[in-house]
Amino acid sequence: MRFDLLTIFPEFFTGPFDYGIVQRARSQGIVEIAVHDLRSFTSDKHHVVDDRPFGGGDGMVFKPDPIFRAVESLLADETPSGDGGDDHDGKRTAVVLLSAQGRLFKQAEAARFANECRRIILICGRYEGVDERVAQHLATDELSIGDYVLTGGEIPAVVVVDAVTRLLPGALGSETSAVHDSFSDGVLDCPHYTRPAEFRGIGVPDVLLSGHHGEVARWRRRAALLKTLKMRPELLELVALTDEESRWLDEAGRANEDY
Ligand code: SAM
Repeated sequence: MRFDLLTIFPEFFTGPFDYGIVQRARSQGIVEIAVHDLRSFTSDKHHVVDDRPFGGGDGMVFKPDPIFRAVESLLADETPSGDGGDDHDGKRTAVVLLSAQGRLFKQAEAARFANECRRIILICGRYEGVDERVAQHLATDELSIGDYVLTGGEIPAVVVVDAVTRLLPGALGSETSAVHDSFSDGVLDCPHYTRPAEFRGIGVPDVLLSGHHGEVARWRRRAALLKTLKMRPELLELVALTDEESRWLDEAGRANEDY
């Protein structure tokens, strides 16, 4: 997978991709991350990327021209079609505009990108945002990382790179798996504990020390469902539960029980 990041602050990305799983995925060639300065795609001598909004109002807006040029020059490198569509390996290039107005970026979306794409171009806005023609006529996806407004698209771009990279084959290594992560099967992950078994008088659930794999798996599933009921009950509306799992939730709800 190749990520291309378009930004007016290329130095911002010094650091975020140099640690842990993302760094390892880079050194193993699982991902390649290239950062491009949007200003180098301007045609004026002052390298201006923004202008005042039509209709008046506060702030500045990213002009369409440097962004279209940048994306088109990146896509021109592609073979065989170079049009951002499906390639011969059946995978596509996504052109993602990071935007507070975009579709919410969720785990399922990260998995879809990891499975379907060979390349993701990420456009980081600043100021009041980006000329709407980029969303309408250039981007394949307009994504938001949450219902809040950040100062720029750089942090959202790091979020997308990180979430997609860890789902690529080989990225997590054999010791970890994303299968039980929160949201992978629609509910939150189960709670985790480690040594010591008693800390400041607070113990851990006995079953986790029992060595009984079947009982541990059952406890984990029940605890994951109860934690989801407590923290994110709306997620449960979309999950197909067994009769036993529904009973666990009913009983826990009635008793106001913790996991
Ligand atoms: N005026 C815009 C609005 O209210 O939707 C906010 C612009 S914001 C200050 C500047 C840039 O930050 C955006 O163009 C976008 O690239 C990025 N951004 C801010 N919040 C974001 C979010 N929740 N998800 C993704 N990108 C975001």
